Amino acid sequence: MLTKEHELLRETLRSFSEKELKPLAREIDETEGFHPEVFKKIGDLGLLGVTVSEAYGGGGMDVLAATLAMEEFGRVCASTALSYLAHSILCVNNIYANGTEEQKKKYLPPLCSGEKLGAMAMTEPGYGSDAMGMETKAVKEGKFYKLTGRKMFITNGTVAQTLVVYAKTGSDREVSSFIVEKDFPGFSVGKKLSKLGMRGSPTSELIFEDCKVPENNVLGKLHQGIPQMKKTLDIERITISGISVGIAQAALEDSISYAKDRKQFKTPIIEFQLVQKMLADMYTWLEAARRLTYHAAMVASSGKKATALASACKVYASEIATQASLHAIQILGGYGYCKDYNVERYLRDAKLMEIGAGTSEVQRMIIAKELAQTGLK
Ligand SMILES: Cc1cc2nc3c(=O)[nH]c(=O)nc-3n(C[C@H](O)[C@H](O)[C@H](O)COP(=O)(O)OP(=O)(O)OC[C@H]3O[C@@H](n4cnc5c(N)ncnc54)[C@H](O)[C@@H]3O)c2cc1C
Repeated sequence: MLTKEHELLRETLRSFSEKELKPLAREIDETEGFHPEVFKKIGDLGLLGVTVSEAYGGGGMDVLAATLAMEEFGRVCASTALSYLAHSILCVNNIYANGTEEQKKKYLPPLCSGEKLGAMAMTEPGYGSDAMGMETKAVKEGKFYKLTGRKMFITNGTVAQTLVVYAKTGSDREVSSFIVEKDFPGFSVGKKLSKLGMRGSPTSELIFEDCKVPENNVLGKLHQGIPQMKKTLDIERITISGISVGIAQAALEDSISYAKDRKQFKTPIIEFQLVQKMLADMYTWLEAARRLTYHAAMVASSGKKATALASACKVYASEIATQASLHAIQILGGYGYCKDYNVERYLRDAKLMEIGAGTSEVQRMIIAKELAQTGLK
């Protein structure tokens, strides 16, 4: 399934993650810290614009490569993987897929090098699953739009300099996206949220009070927010599934090594059949989630519609990541419940994967809608 280039990329990602991310993972979870210099290093690897053409400073790679990056980062530090996703896919890939030539030339090179960090703001305090109900409005005044409203749960909200923001620009179905720079007048960062997991990935509220956005910063064309969103959403859901696969992989690796070492009744616990069942289930889930996610990534890379597959891998990989983390805690027993080991962090991080980028309930609704409309193809 993976090409030689993908295998080489995985090797690079694995050694980078072990060297640069692993030592930080526990600290940023405990302190809700964030290390921007890590993103500069990911930029040096050419991965901050992983799907973006080299002409704009990107890596020129496919959706499977982006998924592998999420998986390998997610395996050691899901928080970093989530912030990386918000930057490289939700913001950067969005500008690349939907921006004008002028916008791509201006905004992509500093985002691809790590000079600037990105975010995407769609969710609002009152509108999550019902994102199109959004109340943020943009009204034209001369050569500017004035944005008014609030956005909620925005990954990288406190650290991003370049944000893709969705707002209504007319009737209820007329939505546009805007490139907002953090220094634009009327933009401010609201409360930083303290979370159960993904604590090393800053999440915040954003406030727009007559925020002055130049008319040239309408991403692509006016009123194209909904089709633009549809164009990139499959890629977002497939790549985020890579993080879930990475968490499930970490949970299984830690469980195997602990079960081999830990003795009870003078016997390594890996020899007990009830423990073996948990390990075997984790392996089966992981392999199934990984194959489904890679398959969806390959379909999306080929340019074919992958909506049902994207939701299927999102829902499956996220739910097995939570289940695998629970099994890992069970296998590590009392130690698994304590912060000296990593498995309790995997559980807290995995739970977000069932909520962010559309909840499991929403993914199942999308799959059912696709099946009803196009059947099994
Ligand atoms: C850590 C974190 C990071 C995030 N990052 C970003 C980001 O960078 N940018 C961004 O725009 N957003 C972001 N989000 C928002 C995320 O996408 C939303 O939280 C998610 O879409 C769910 O919306 P909600 O939280 O408002 O829940 P709600 O939509 O209020 O849902 C609550 C419950 O009701 C269920 N539900 C809702 N509608 C239906 C229905 N029709 N049928 C059945 N069940 C339903 C849901 O599945 C859920 O169980 C982030 C969220 C978190 C927690």
